[in-house]
Amino acid sequence: MASPFSGALQLTDLDDFIGPSQDCIKPVKADRRPGSGVAKIHIQDDGSYFQVHQDGGSQKLEKAKVSLNDCLACSGCVTSAETVLIAQQSHEELRKVLRANEAAAPGQQKLVVVSVSPQSRASLAARFQLNPTETAKKLTSFFKKIGAHFVFDTAFSRNFSLLESQREFVRRFREQAGSPQALPLLASACPGWICYAEKTHGPLLTPHLSTARSPQQVMGSLVKDFFAQQQGLAPDKVYHVTVMPCYDKKLEASRPDFFNHEYQTRDVDCVLTTGEVYKLLEEQGVSLPDLEPAPLDSLPSSVSAEEPTSHRGGGSGGYLEHVFRHAARELFGIHVDELTYRPLRNKDFQEVTLEREGQVLLHFAAAYGFRNIQNLVQKLRRGRCPYHYVEVMACPAGCLNGGGQLRAADMPSRELLQQVEKLYASVRVEAPEDTPGVPELYRHWLQGEDSARASRLLHTQYHAVEKADSGLSIRW
Ligand code: SF4
Repeated sequence: MASPFSGALQLTDLDDFIGPSQDCIKPVKADRRPGSGVAKIHIQDDGSYFQVHQDGGSQKLEKAKVSLNDCLACSGCVTSAETVLIAQQSHEELRKVLRANEAAAPGQQKLVVVSVSPQSRASLAARFQLNPTETAKKLTSFFKKIGAHFVFDTAFSRNFSLLESQREFVRRFREQAGSPQALPLLASACPGWICYAEKTHGPLLTPHLSTARSPQQVMGSLVKDFFAQQQGLAPDKVYHVTVMPCYDKKLEASRPDFFNHEYQTRDVDCVLTTGEVYKLLEEQGVSLPDLEPAPLDSLPSSVSAEEPTSHRGGGSGGYLEHVFRHAARELFGIHVDELTYRPLRNKDFQEVTLEREGQVLLHFAAAYGFRNIQNLVQKLRRGRCPYHYVEVMACPAGCLNGGGQLRAADMPSRELLQQVEKLYASVRVEAPEDTPGVPELYRHWLQGEDSARASRLLHTQYHAVEKADSGLSIRW
C-alpha cells in the first residue's frame, strides 16, 4: 500500500509495514509477581489469553492496547498508526459532525470553523482555473453551504509563526556563545520533518528545533482560545477543521501537546487534505466555479478581508526569508531587500549569506526533501553544520508539492507545480508585523510579545524518542 505521507515518513524500503487490519496490540500483560517464576501463557480457541500459575490455577489476561501516542517509538507501526489516523480525521468525520449539528436541538450545535491553508487554495485554484480570490470566496461559500459557520485563512495565523520564529532566532543568536545548542535553529512548521527528527535523531536534533508553533497550530490557539471566547463558547463547543497540503498535518494535530485536557478537546479537531476537499466537492455534486462567491471572514472581526494575502519567501511559508531579513536588521542594522540564493547539491538545497567586508555574518539554508535532510543531519552529527538557521521541509519543492495536493492526470507534475506556484505567488504580500489585527492581538489576547500567554499559545515542545537498541533497529 502506498503511503500518502511525506517522504521523510515513508518507510517504503523497509519490510516492516503493519497494516491497519493488524491490531497494534501488545498481546498480553502478564502478571509478573515476585516468585511467580516464568509466566506460562495458554491461548484459548477464541483468542483469549490465560496465565497458568504453578498451582494449576489460571487467570485471564488483559490485552494492552498501544495508542498512537505510545507507538511513535518504533518504525514498524508508524505507518499503521498514521493510516488509522487518516480514517479518524477525514471528510467523513466532518460530515458526521455536520449531520449531528443538523439534528441537534437549538443551542446544542457545535460552531464549525474551517481554516484553509494558502497552499491548498492555490492547488484548488489551479484545478478549477480560478484566481486565488475567487477560489477563497467560492470555498467560503461551499463550506457555509454544507454547514460551516466561519471560514478563515491560515495565512493570518502564519503571521504569528513568523514573528515568533524571528524573535526566537535573534534571542538564540545572542545566546550562542554561552549555549552551544542555541544554533543552528531549525524551522519546525513541517510535521513530517518534526516526526523524523524526534524519532530518528531525537537527542541530536530536538534542542535545535524552533519552538514556534506552525500556522496550523497557531490557528488552533486562535480559534479555540481567542475566537471561542469572542463567541462566548467553551473550546469544546467549537469544531475546528483545517485544510492542508499534506497528511502529515493530521499527525501534528493529534500531538498530545495540542490537546486541551480541561475541556477534552483538540486545538484542531479534523485535518482535511486538499484532495479530500476535492472529494467532498465531488460527493456533494458541487462545481466550485459555479458557486456564488461569499464574502471572506476575518478572524479579528474588526478587520475586513477583501482578498487573501500571503507572505514573501516561497510556498512553504517564507520562514528563511523572514528570519533572515529580521535578523540582518535587528542584529547588524542591515536592510536586506532581495535575497540571493545559492543552489548547493540541487535546487532543494540552497543557501543565503549576509556578508560585511568579507566576513560572513549570517549563513542560512533551505533543505527540502528527505535526501537533503539526511545531508543536513550528517553535517550536524559531525559537528560541521555551518548554518545559523535552516528552513527544513520534508517534501521536495516544499508545501505546494505536499502529498495531499491535487495531481493532474493530463499534465506533468512539474508543469502543474509551476502553475500552483504562480497562483500562490499572485496574491498581495504583507509583512507579518504590519498585518491588520496582529499588533492588537499581541496587545490584548496575548498580553504582550514576551508574555507567558504568548509562550503557551504560540510555542510548543518536542520529545526525543529513545530508540530501542536492538538488532532489528534500522539506521536511517
Ligand atoms: Fe506537509 Fe509542507 Fe512538510 Fe510537505 S513540506 S510534509 S506539505 S508541511
